[in-house]
Amino acid sequence: SPKVPNPLGASIIAKTNTRPNLPKKKLKMEAIGVLMMCPMSAYLENELDKRFKLFRFWNQPQKEEFVKEKANSIRAIVGNASAGADAKLIDSLPGLEIVASYSVGLDKIDLGYCKEKGIRVSNTPDVLTEDVADLAIGLILATLRQICACDRYVRSGLWTKGDFKLTTKFSGKSVGIIGLGRIGLAVAHRAEAFGCPISYYTRSEKPDSKYKYYSNVIDLASNCQILVVACPLTKETRHIINREVIDALGPKGVLINIGRGPHVDEPELVSALVEGRLGGAGLDVFENEPEVPEQLFGLDNVVLLPHVGSGTVETRNAMADLVIGNLEAHFLGKPLLTPVV
Ligand code: NAP
Repeated sequence: SPKVPNPLGASIIAKTNTRPNLPKKKLKMEAIGVLMMCPMSAYLENELDKRFKLFRFWNQPQKEEFVKEKANSIRAIVGNASAGADAKLIDSLPGLEIVASYSVGLDKIDLGYCKEKGIRVSNTPDVLTEDVADLAIGLILATLRQICACDRYVRSGLWTKGDFKLTTKFSGKSVGIIGLGRIGLAVAHRAEAFGCPISYYTRSEKPDSKYKYYSNVIDLASNCQILVVACPLTKETRHIINREVIDALGPKGVLINIGRGPHVDEPELVSALVEGRLGGAGLDVFENEPEVPEQLFGLDNVVLLPHVGSGTVETRNAMADLVIGNLEAHFLGKPLLTPVV
């Protein structure tokens, strides 16, 4: 029987199905069809390939034909922040048992439909929290201190002609956070170290939090200088940053988005930045990734990142280990490591 290294510790033997109500029989992991939706990590791809029968969706020229042909053998989907499982795909895979997402955000998965059909869902919480919070602080500093524009200034030789303009201080500025979950809280802890007063908006006030709570986004935006978006993307939070919120943040305010692109009404954000009605923006995510509005390219008060919140080798490998751990747990009849549904 194959020895399957358990990403979370010692090796386990993929030998028997341990669910008590099922007959004990040799479980052949290599025969289990796993559909990976898009390229996300060479390490994850390799590890999946070693353990399962891996299908690479992005390599299939005739996607509908492929799904029809493999419909019964695919028992798991591995998705991420850009490709998950919608109702159509779920319906076309009658053998589907689990969707394991290589992300904490679940906005590309039809969770309600998975629940209804008894399909398990897992994600990768916690292991990416520090990286995303670190990046949020990086974005704040880069936007206020115009670090990227400074770098361009030096590289283009402009420094020899004169000093760079003055920028804006971060330490002590008030920070408002939409979503005080794992990532929002980690951003708050880091911003506290910069002497920043913290406030937040969530649907329910966090009773244990010492930070100031606002029951709506407009009040939060009116009372902070830096607004950080760190909530999940849902129907409720789509365009949670709209013209009213941008106006409340104002010409000295800065928006940081490390959540999801569709949290922001992008045309409204672009016009506010172009017209100087908003002070600046640090954006890791965009409404139609990887498309980014070109009007932003010439603005020094804007920092644009290609959705790299969790993008370090250490964290992406930890996320991959969680995806594999969840799939193995499921097919061994054990509790999922990080279950959602
Ligand atoms: P989490 O621990 O589940 O926290 C979510 C927070 O958002 C909670 O405080 C929750 O509080 C709040 N929230 C939920 N619905 C809300 C709503 N309608 N309005 C306002 N607040 C709401 O999630 P997390 O691990 O911190 O991750 C947050 C999100 O970050 C993910 O869903 C993902 O989209 C994004 N993310 C981005 C990157 C990146 O690369 N840029 C990487 C990782 C994650 P209540 O329930 O009380 O409202």
